[in-house]
Amino acid sequence: MHTKKAGRHKSENPRTFDLPKTRLTREERRMIELKAVLHTKGNMAEYIRDLVLNDTRIPKPMPTCICGSTSLKIIYIDEEREVNVGNQDLILTLTGVPRSECSSCGRIMGDMRLAAKLENVLDEEILWRVNNHHIIPKQIEFNELVTLT
Ligand SMILES: [Zn+2]
Repeated sequence: MHTKKAGRHKSENPRTFDLPKTRLTREERRMIELKAVLHTKGNMAEYIRDLVLNDTRIPKPMPTCICGSTSLKIIYIDEEREVNVGNQDLILTLTGVPRSECSSCGRIMGDMRLAAKLENVLDEEILWRVNNHHIIPKQIEFNELVTLT
């Protein structure tokens, strides 16, 4: 049975954001521009979107643990986040967040950049939901944040 996901309607998603500028070598630029012509008639935005949507790589664990071990694997954990909605703080559970687990000492480590980006992304998402009179969920899946609904 088809279940409708509570995604954003297309009209609520105008294309108003730019990606940061990316410095490239001459060869890199040539490669990307030629591939965009080959695959998306030169439409760079569509080319990048296609690549990202088809990127199903599993994140790599951190290379070394504080204990010295290099035997780490990716695990997916649920974590609680405090978000500010108007004048109240809500607890939101973010499920399926990738973390590195050390198989020697059992430590679970997170990526600082990912943690910082998630904080920005969640703040932006909550603000968007408030401004658009959408409900604030108690739980958000990490996977929902890296796909288009
Ligand atoms: Zn360890």
